[in-house]
Amino acid sequence: MKITRLEAVPVRVPLKTDRIAITAHGRHAVSEYVILKMHTDQGLIGLGEATVQALWSGETAQTCVGLLQNQITEIVVGKDPNDIQKIMADLNHHVKFNPFTKACIEMALWDILGKARNLPLYELLGGKCHDKIPMKMMIGGFEPKQAAKLAETFLEWGVGCLKVKVGLVPKEDLERVAAVRSVAGMELPMTIDSNCGWSAPVARKILPQFEKFQLILIEQPTRSGDWATMSELRRISPAPLMADENVWTLVEAYQAAAHQAVDIISVYPGKNGGIINAKKIAHVAHSADMGCHIGSNLELGIASAAMLHLAASTPEIESHKYPADILGPCYHETDLLAEPLQIGPKFAVVPDKPGLGVELDDALLKRYRMD
Ligand SMILES: [Mg+2]
Repeated sequence: MKITRLEAVPVRVPLKTDRIAITAHGRHAVSEYVILKMHTDQGLIGLGEATVQALWSGETAQTCVGLLQNQITEIVVGKDPNDIQKIMADLNHHVKFNPFTKACIEMALWDILGKARNLPLYELLGGKCHDKIPMKMMIGGFEPKQAAKLAETFLEWGVGCLKVKVGLVPKEDLERVAAVRSVAGMELPMTIDSNCGWSAPVARKILPQFEKFQLILIEQPTRSGDWATMSELRRISPAPLMADENVWTLVEAYQAAAHQAVDIISVYPGKNGGIINAKKIAHVAHSADMGCHIGSNLELGIASAAMLHLAASTPEIESHKYPADILGPCYHETDLLAEPLQIGPKFAVVPDKPGLGVELDDALLKRYRMD
């Protein structure tokens, strides 16, 4: 089998108006992503999704489409899609960074392999350890009243865990978490994510003040790359500390372990440049006696399916302890799938059909395409 063509479709999908993401990185109200159809000479089409956001990795729909249509087309067209490791090694050699763009290529390769062998992706990855993945819902950096109202909506739906965005104005961060706790009660598992938003002095002062909220983890309090501050904060943190923006690559996972800087590492295919890399990082975390968690940058259906196959087939990822951020489709107007994934309120269900196990709705793709 040979790859014949990459069809890259930039899409523009708004978030539901009451669920936009306000974080220390900025405001995310519309997702301008890229859907990939990888065509083969045997008629099989592999699907990929690049959840590119300039405020997250510097990638945009335009840089992603440009790479896919030029440099990456040169690397992959004519290759056998079964050679996933070899193609990804070539790609990593010839194209630096751009993890979300690389992840969409790997997704499409896995999708083709699964469809060719008539097996769901988790079988190709060694089989599944779970049929459904415990997940949480996210509350953006809204003012406390609005945050509490969104929490109520999620609680009425029956969610099992909530994550609240902080890292904005410290006093309001505490008020927002207090407001959500007041409607959720003390029993519901809860996490906070600062998205690098606090300076080291602010984090030193504010972290102990979260003790009364009995959080199950605290995510990325300070800027990425600053291992010394993370190590120091780990000693005063009232809950296990998790690295998200700090760990994109395997080398950074090694650094997290070497510095004993965190208790948990967050992984997902987009940020880590594919499922294989995310698994390698999960293994490093496990070997260093750290936990591992599935993070997100608000995926649509295809990339959410990739996350589910990763979570299901990787025992080192402890979603039962640290519920996964497999939630993107619940925040968007559409996930672009013919049959939506089953996500929420407490679990996300692992698809069982061949490959990624999802099908694009071409009418929706046409409606939301940007070009
Ligand atoms: Mg995060």
